[in-house]
Amino acid sequence: MRLQGKVALVTGAASGIGYAIAELFAKEGATVIATDIAEPKKVYPAGVESMKLDVTSEGEWEKTVAGIIKKHGKLDVLINNAGIIAYEPLHELGMEAWNRMIAVDQTGVFLGMREAVRVMRKQKSGSIVNISSIWGSAAVSGAHSYHAAKGAVRNMSKNAAMTYVGEGIRVNSVHPGFIVTPLTDSQDEALNKAVIDATPMKRGGKPAEIAYGCLYLASDESSFTTGVELIIDGGYLAQ
Ligand code: NAP
Repeated sequence: MRLQGKVALVTGAASGIGYAIAELFAKEGATVIATDIAEPKKVYPAGVESMKLDVTSEGEWEKTVAGIIKKHGKLDVLINNAGIIAYEPLHELGMEAWNRMIAVDQTGVFLGMREAVRVMRKQKSGSIVNISSIWGSAAVSGAHSYHAAKGAVRNMSKNAAMTYVGEGIRVNSVHPGFIVTPLTDSQDEALNKAVIDATPMKRGGKPAEIAYGCLYLASDESSFTTGVELIIDGGYLAQ
């Protein structure tokens, strides 16, 4: 029960990594508010409350966090996990696709962190975990908007970590390699194979393998850890 008594908000929790985080956090004793624009793919276990939240909406963020404070009195943990991916190279990237990516993968994280730190500053405690990617620290060809957003999430996390380090708030980023989820299942098989072949462990990761990293960062076990990039990638970035 590593999160006993904690209240945790997870975004993009209807499937994949977000669902695994919600499931694990509930098992570890947290009250979990699992949010998404989509309906959950599986029934959540006990301890998980399901709620709609489009991370691009300032109004929905304000309503969601205010609702959590009204019902539970505090917010201990925020996991900014919701995300989309796109593969256009720079020369083919239109404004609409660019704006959509930045809205979900970057502005969503900004709005979530802002709402959370407003209550965490009053509490003088809190842990925020932002899900970036290996493409937030290194590059492959193409996927320009995704690299932009995930790189920004990495640096936004470090900035927030430094800004609130004296106020009991910790902010860290998690950088998954290839993880088998509905997002990667929907991608071109050849593309998936290329990333797995380039992964030293020669397999895709499981959502639970990311959730366990988030569990450490959300819990008090990581009380001396802020501003770090936790890379969970089967050895990809070590090469
Ligand atoms: P996933 O299975 O597609 O789950 C992401 C969830 O976020 C989906 O339910 C999705 O709904 C939801 N979502 C999309 N736009 C949203 C919005 N505006 N507001 C709220 N929720 C929204 O993807 P995943 O693979 O678990 O990815 C989770 C996170 O890990 C993402 O940030 C992703 O970039 C990151 N990541 C994944 C991998 C990987 O290999 N899987 C690697 C590195 C980083 P819809 O299904 O309706 O879009």
